[in-house]
Amino acid sequence: MKFSTKAIHIGEYPDFSQYGDVIKPIHLSTTFARRDPQIPTKGYEYIRTDNPTRHTLEEKLASLENGKFAITFSSGLAAESTLLLSILKNGDEILASDDLYSGTRRIFNDVLMNFNIHYNIINHFSITNIKNNINKNIKVLWIESPTNPLLKVYDIKELAEICEEKDILLIVDNTFATPYFQNPLKLSADIVIHSTTKYINGHSDSLGGAIILNDEDLYHKIKFNQNAIGAVLSPFDSFLTIRGLKTLELRMKQHERNAMEIAKYLENRKEILKVLYPGLPSHPNYDIAKKQMSGYGGMISFYFNGKYDNVKLFLSKLKYFSLAESLGGVESLLEVPYFMTHAGLPEEEKKRLNISENLIRMSVGIENVEDLIEDIEKALS
Ligand SMILES: *Cc1c(COP(=O)(O)O)cnc(C)c1O
Repeated sequence: MKFSTKAIHIGEYPDFSQYGDVIKPIHLSTTFARRDPQIPTKGYEYIRTDNPTRHTLEEKLASLENGKFAITFSSGLAAESTLLLSILKNGDEILASDDLYSGTRRIFNDVLMNFNIHYNIINHFSITNIKNNINKNIKVLWIESPTNPLLKVYDIKELAEICEEKDILLIVDNTFATPYFQNPLKLSADIVIHSTTKYINGHSDSLGGAIILNDEDLYHKIKFNQNAIGAVLSPFDSFLTIRGLKTLELRMKQHERNAMEIAKYLENRKEILKVLYPGLPSHPNYDIAKKQMSGYGGMISFYFNGKYDNVKLFLSKLKYFSLAESLGGVESLLEVPYFMTHAGLPEEEKKRLNISENLIRMSVGIENVEDLIEDIEKALS
């Protein structure tokens, strides 16, 4: 079965035991009656433990990421914290790439540190540097690829080999690429993380997260902890995410087509210093992206040629790009990481990473690309 067929058909079939619904209904019941005290009806007991609508979404996500198991959560960060609490203990350490979603860094820095779980950021992300940084306490290598907001791309297969050799888990946040363009499990990563809030739901109207993996023991452990901690996806958000997921392939194709055209356009404008898009041959990791991804996605970052006042003026003139955090919806957004998504990073860290006041991150929507380019052109002039 191919991608969009899976997205539409896995976990959903006409239910002739009821009314013949062709889509999975939103099951709101918080509890499920049983005939026998020892036997839950079709395995369902209580909404936090499992829910039929959520279960359908999990079947679809596992299948689309080529994994055996998926678990969905009330947010991407709920998925991340439940996962980290399931695999780490007092004294363990995390190794992570330097360009990260700032909420992930906040869990490492402000939550896990209180439990004596420390993290190491690799400043110059090279294979030698990673190998040199792996000590006996390191249990996890955590990466995003492409990263947020600088869109760096790492060789997942190569990292997976090192992790296997050193017996540590490779976790890949695949939010930017989506399962349509990249399958980290196929590249031998151990665990995939998603903020479904972004492309997977795709309509900027539902918060959620997911973990996909193949290891059965670890799956049961995370599932147990999710029920114990309680950060589950609601039936309504499960429904919205299922609905969004069905058009993921169509949307991603259009996001990418638009992003490619806009990236090329921006690269030729004198008002723009530098464009970061993994699909441009000028991108430093273009070859890796080409090798491990089937497309380059809808995110572009670029440095404006000018002072922050010029950036502000440019942003204020755009009609179709809203100035907002988040990404992956059908509508185009853009933001200034320095003041918005990455405001919490220490100044010296922003400087080192080159997250400056003139860096703009753009989530290219699926509007007509001529309209989008015309909008940018007017704002630039
Ligand atoms: C948004 C995001 C998250 C966090 O997800 P929430 O659903 O907002 O909790 C994690 N990783 C990446 C790459 C993100 O963009």
